[in-house]
Amino acid sequence: TAPILEARDVSMHFTVRGAFGQTAVVRAVEGATLALRPGGIVALVGESGSGKTTLARLLARFHRPTSGEIRLRGEPVGKRGDRAYHRDVQMVFQDPFGSLNPLHRVRYNLERALRLHHGVKDRAELERRVVELLERVSLVPARDFVDKFPHELSGGQRQRVVIARALAVEPAVLLGDEPISMLDVSIRLDMLNLLARLREEEGLALLYITHDIASARYLCDEIVVMYAGRMVEGGPKEDVLARPLHPYTRLLIESSPDPDRGRAALFDGADELGEPPSLIDPPAGCRFHPRCPFAMARCRTEAPPRTTVSSGQWAHCWLLDGQETT
Ligand code: SF4
Repeated sequence: TAPILEARDVSMHFTVRGAFGQTAVVRAVEGATLALRPGGIVALVGESGSGKTTLARLLARFHRPTSGEIRLRGEPVGKRGDRAYHRDVQMVFQDPFGSLNPLHRVRYNLERALRLHHGVKDRAELERRVVELLERVSLVPARDFVDKFPHELSGGQRQRVVIARALAVEPAVLLGDEPISMLDVSIRLDMLNLLARLREEEGLALLYITHDIASARYLCDEIVVMYAGRMVEGGPKEDVLARPLHPYTRLLIESSPDPDRGRAALFDGADELGEPPSLIDPPAGCRFHPRCPFAMARCRTEAPPRTTVSSGQWAHCWLLDGQETT
């Protein structure tokens, strides 16, 4: 199927000002290319500071890219109004408490989205839709939740309300920025199952952003790995996890807990990867070279191009030079 949302060679540079007035450029995302398809789940995996949240915010149109293009249904989104865009593309954030207005009941938070994006005004219709939305995210019986304030809900319930609010808009794409990482371990699996069901039943395209390979393994069809602002590898989940091409992907997988050790271990995310580089003055050439055991002279000066190896799996690494198959 054709992509519904695409990033094409997108870069995002910010200028930051230091305490003494000096400025520096943060190269948060460079040359990112990504496609989301209806009913497909792509996991964007990387450590904090890898640029994955910035890329999601570009896809959500909270920032405009420095260069490159975002396309929705094949059309560049340059001139599209924000509200029209957000009718198609919704984002769910990590912190479900910060995402809801604490002064308002669940009802208000959902009704606002219905009024704003669909012009629903009729009281009975709003009531019917709010109940239906809560049922879609398994907050049942829904009438027990409509008049609650966010602080009266658990973290998992709040995140379900946030997802219900996103669904109220009837988007085609949901961008989930670490949507389970602040939830209790015991309910993370439930939340992943909810996201899987939404893709299944509603045909949503989902971008699942995480630092956790195990949950990506559980949920997604495709994995894209980011390191220091650049995409380093991507492809079908089975291929990337079974035969990672890039040394960084290998390291990520090796430092992730083995899912066979049980459900609790699934999301514990041991992190022995060391510090990622600064994006203000990132390493030249391959940005992973200071940590790469296979680094060669060329890796320090030239950024490796994308090499597609098989069945859509690709990576940026000089070790693959000359192995292109498609
Ligand atoms: Fe390592 Fe070089 Fe490959 Fe970068 S390009 S991952 S430094 S071998």
